[in-house]
Amino acid sequence: MSTTAQCQHCGMELEPTHIDPCPNCGKQGKNVQVVLNEIVHLSDEVLVTKTHEFYAKNFKITVLLILMFVVSPILGLFFGGTTGLVLGVILGGLGFVLSPHAILKTRTIEHL
Ligand SMILES: [Zn+2]
Repeated sequence: MSTTAQCQHCGMELEPTHIDPCPNCGKQGKNVQVVLNEIVHLSDEVLVTKTHEFYAKNFKITVLLILMFVVSPILGLFFGGTTGLVLGVILGGLGFVLSPHAILKTRTIEHL
C-alpha cells in the first residue's frame, strides 16, 4: 500500500499527514491517493463428463432368436410327446439365455 498527497491548487507534493495550508501557494486543500496492490489467487474445479448411451445389437444372436421363434412351432408338428417337450424346453431355455445378448443397452461415461 502506498499513500501520496498533493496540493489540490498548485500540485506540490505534500506529506499525507500534512494539515496546514500549502507551503508553496498558501491555500488549504489536498488530494490524497491511496494505492492498494493485492494478489488474489482464485481456483475452482469443474467436473465435466460426457455420456454416450446406445443400444449394442448383436446381429447373429438376433437372427438365431428369430430362427428359434419360427422353427419351434414347426418342430411341434413333427415331434410329439416327451421328445417335443424336451425340444421345447431346450429352445425356450436357449431363448431365455440368449435374448439379453441380442440387444444390450450400453452407456459409456467419460470424465473430461
Ligand atoms: Zn499549493
